[in-house]
Amino acid sequence: MNKILFIVFLIPLIINAQTGSDELINPKELIHDLVVDLRYGTPDHKFLNLPNGDIQLPKFYTCNESLMLLQLAESLKLAQDSLRNIREYDGRIFPRGIGIKIWDAYRPRAVQYLLFEIFPNPTYVADPASGSMHNRGGAVDLTLVDLETGKELEMPTLFDDFSQKSAHTYNDLAPHVIANRKLLRDVMTNIAKLSIYSSEWWHYNLSGASSFPLRDFQMK
Ligand SMILES: [Zn+2]
Repeated sequence: MNKILFIVFLIPLIINAQTGSDELINPKELIHDLVVDLRYGTPDHKFLNLPNGDIQLPKFYTCNESLMLLQLAESLKLAQDSLRNIREYDGRIFPRGIGIKIWDAYRPRAVQYLLFEIFPNPTYVADPASGSMHNRGGAVDLTLVDLETGKELEMPTLFDDFSQKSAHTYNDLAPHVIANRKLLRDVMTNIAKLSIYSSEWWHYNLSGASSFPLRDFQMK
């Protein structure tokens, strides 16, 4: 009896030790020069460009403050600390280094239902029934910027380009574009220790994120 009780009480401690905090934080608290441009909080997102007739889509977010699991924010801090020190890459000069721009991070599950209704293709939009890593705060969509000018480095596609051009294996691209995608991938996998998603060059997952809860509250 005592032994069973002991084990029952121990389980949450073991789970917590394995997965860490499930707290969601604003990554700007850790990364002061992070650029955040939550595209689903503006009318300027790819979902509006899909052939859905005259459907007027809402802004899916009410603010431009991103949230993510603490561990993911800590991983991105390592990446940004490394990128910020780059002064030259692929023959180009970056006087203040390179930085990260976030397009999406934590995404309320209700928004996942809306996105899936518009574009029910699970290669690009996770089925809300099982949920997206974004709904757990364990995924991030991002690109790189020149910290001097704020301009995005040229990548294979824009955000949410649901075509083969978004895949990591697509290489019918200018050499500097391939180099930019490689820099992002190298930093995210080697420094931040995140996992790629083969169909989308902009999407990275925190390993083990599937053990965190699906959530459904709107950012404020
Ligand atoms: Zn994503």
